[in-house]
Amino acid sequence: MDTRSTNTPETDIRETLLPDACAVCGGDVHLRVLNGKATSYCGTCHHIAHPKLKVLHDRLELALDSTAKA
Ligand SMILES: [Zn+2]
Repeated sequence: MDTRSTNTPETDIRETLLPDACAVCGGDVHLRVLNGKATSYCGTCHHIAHPKLKVLHDRLELALDSTAKA
């Protein structure tokens, strides 16, 4: 019997699109949060970053890394 599951309770994935949020080119940034760890990806310049997330009471604060990496 196969007991594997692709939707375990520990897996929490959230995705959103942040328009004009890329620190490098100003393009749209796709943000994915997996188990509390965020990864952002710009579809225009392909810049990938791991922004820091902070939960402040009823809102979420996102710190995008503005340093470009080649
Ligand atoms: Zn970009």
